[in-house]
Amino acid sequence: MQEFLDRAQAAVGDDGRLRLGRMPEWEVFPFERDGLRARPLTEYADPEPDRRRDPADCRTCRALSSAAQVLHTGDRLAVIRPGATSLPFVANVVAREHELLDDVDDDAHAELGRLLARTYLAVQALDGVGNVHITKWENGSGHLSVNVMARPRGVLQLRGSNLPVWADMLPDIPQDEYDARAEAVRAALA
Ligand SMILES: [Zn+2]
Repeated sequence: MQEFLDRAQAAVGDDGRLRLGRMPEWEVFPFERDGLRARPLTEYADPEPDRRRDPADCRTCRALSSAAQVLHTGDRLAVIRPGATSLPFVANVVAREHELLDDVDDDAHAELGRLLARTYLAVQALDGVGNVHITKWENGSGHLSVNVMARPRGVLQLRGSNLPVWADMLPDIPQDEYDARAEAVRAALA
């Protein structure tokens, strides 16, 4: 919507940037307010460029062919995990084929709900997990993927929507710890 961007442009300050919102005041916001500034708004793009990756360049397709990364295989969907993570656990409920949520049928929608709930419960039951968050970004991969992310118990600073921002800065957890949790999740989903 060009209008949306026009209204946003009309709200920028003398420095050409939007003022910071309320989030920097949140105690869970990962960055200090001093020196923080918004990036300038970019150009309008409609039609949007096709950001879908070819299956050959798709990390989700690659993970689906790695036995260590596949936690469960359903009819149309599967549950996988990334190769490494800085959080106690991360899983993704994904389409078994290289397709988007926009492309799957109602049976797949029902399976998505069931697998998300079961994966949520399996991850929530792991030792050391305080809460589990579920998001869909897709990052232009062209492959349906819903993220299930565990927050470490007692680390309240990581709670809420900034969890992936913290995850990007934190060091990876030991691989043997991650693998042991994967076995527990795999067993719970079986
Ligand atoms: Zn793919």
